[in-house]
Amino acid sequence: MNNKDNKPKNLYEELCKDYRFKEGFHTCINCGTCTAICPAAEFYKYDPRKIVSIVQTRDDQQIEELLKSDTIWYCGECMSCVTRCPRKNGPGLVIIALRDLSARLGYFTESEKGRQLLPLTHIMTGNILNYGYCVHPKSFKWEDHKESGPVWKWHTEHLEQSLARQGANYMGDGPGILRKIPQESLDELKAIFDVTGGTERIRIVEEYSKAKAEEMGMDMEEYERQAFEYCSDKHFNH
Ligand code: SF4
Ligand code: SF4
Repeated sequence: MNNKDNKPKNLYEELCKDYRFKEGFHTCINCGTCTAICPAAEFYKYDPRKIVSIVQTRDDQQIEELLKSDTIWYCGECMSCVTRCPRKNGPGLVIIALRDLSARLGYFTESEKGRQLLPLTHIMTGNILNYGYCVHPKSFKWEDHKESGPVWKWHTEHLEQSLARQGANYMGDGPGILRKIPQESLDELKAIFDVTGGTERIRIVEEYSKAKAEEMGMDMEEYERQAFEYCSDKHFNH
């Protein structure tokens, strides 16, 4: 898949078609209030004010660079910025629109944080389509999150026992936390993915990632593992 084939004539105009962009982007006065309130800016070398400022230039080259950068993947989508902007902008909404465009055009594969889209897509959509939950204990491997410590290790090794003690109905029939979602409902979720473009999005993310893996001389397993595990120091403030 070649993103040059899909590139729209004008990236700014393409962004303007996105309702989140329309809602989140008005005139920015560059005051920096969004950056001051942003929790992600405390940890990452990240400045939502700059993102809005770049978009405001309407300069295609600068917007393309943004779409290929790590920057748009630092946001936690908490929307704290929306509550404080004096011009009623929503940098978080602008960033969601930028992420969507980056995914559609395959530009996400050009950055370390962007490449995480592949494992994230597999984990999140796998949880939703297989279990009916965004986050599910079955997909949590302690080995991938050793920082969670020995208590979580014990918890993952004794899931049923541990969750029963917390009052869950883990993978059981009937009501309750973490109950088994009936196949009929899972089929409906799959149908929703199909008609809303979710299934197509998974395919696109996989295809662009496959092309990038080939470019990087890796097989898909190695590429996805590296995208999941590797995190360079360049992102952080400290
Ligand atoms: S708070 Fe609003 S006006 Fe100020 S820099 Fe951020 S987006 Fe622009
Ligand atoms: S939505 Fe994103 S940019 Fe806005 S405050 Fe939250 S993390 Fe920061």
